[in-house]
Amino acid sequence: MPGEFDLIKRYFNRHHARQDVLLGVGDDAALLRATPGQVMAVTVDTLIAGVHFPYETKPDDIGHKSLAVCLSDLASMGAEPAWATLAISLPEADDRWLEGFAAGFYDLAARYGVALIGGDTTRGSLSITVQAMGWVPQEQALHRSGACLGDSIYVTGTLGDAGLGLAVLQSRTQVDSTFHEALLGHLNRPEPRVQAGIALRGLATAAIDISDGLAADLNHLLNASGVGARVEIDRLPLSNAVREADPQGYLALSAGDDYELIFTMPPSSAQTLSHSEMPPYTCIGRIESEKGLRLVDAEGNTPPYSRFGYDHFRGL
Ligand code: ADP
Ligand code: MG
Repeated sequence: MPGEFDLIKRYFNRHHARQDVLLGVGDDAALLRATPGQVMAVTVDTLIAGVHFPYETKPDDIGHKSLAVCLSDLASMGAEPAWATLAISLPEADDRWLEGFAAGFYDLAARYGVALIGGDTTRGSLSITVQAMGWVPQEQALHRSGACLGDSIYVTGTLGDAGLGLAVLQSRTQVDSTFHEALLGHLNRPEPRVQAGIALRGLATAAIDISDGLAADLNHLLNASGVGARVEIDRLPLSNAVREADPQGYLALSAGDDYELIFTMPPSSAQTLSHSEMPPYTCIGRIESEKGLRLVDAEGNTPPYSRFGYDHFRGL
């Protein structure tokens, strides 16, 4: 792309304070110092315009979200974020767009002490790939595979807000306008649960972040752990907006993009958990030995929609 070097220098070479970056943006590769005694967690995600976010999404929201989804993956491993790389494909070098994107990206990076240490810039349809790296003591890393019989199942925050935000944006449903800002905030500016992941080190038996919806992501955790679960739909944490729009819980079960954490642990560990580091979290059910996910209401009855399979939850 013409002016590529200027563009990188202008937008993607900001100062950071990390001592473990020996050489960052500007050479053929970054040189980084490993954290002794810990293992590196590495993840990468691509966001494509029109697929992963609507074309009209504001550039600062895209900047935020492209890093947030990666930090959410690190959070679900219990890792502390350190570095990121950014491969960006752009139709044109649009200064206003780049300024906004960089602002959203760097605001979030600064809050979690993440240094942008390299990347790639090309001309093409709008697509953003972010790789994030972080550190965790090996024996405390949170895997999907550790859930045990008798563990309770917890989820941070509330569920379905991002999905409802998207439904509102696409005029598939209507909610009271006082809810709009918060719902669109959940959709465009998810907050990665980094502190929660770190607080859960050594306590949670398994964890996963919710990118594809509670039911789908909990199923990944259950399959990896070789167990099943009973989830009480009446316990799902819902914001007032989601409760009004979808009291049956379809959205909470199926809508993606929440980036909350699902984690399992023995109920006794809840007392040890540092509540100052944790966002609100809710017990939604328990691990059972019988494989599969069973949804029950407060009376223990199976809700009628559960026989359709999770893809059919998409009610809105
Ligand atoms: P090379 O051709 O050697 O791969 P590039 O010209 O692609 O190098 O990039 C020059 C420098 O700028 C490298 O250090 C690269 O990591 C960095 N860089 C390129 N694009 C980005 C970007 N979007 N964000 C951050 N760093 C970038
Ligand atoms: Mg080179």
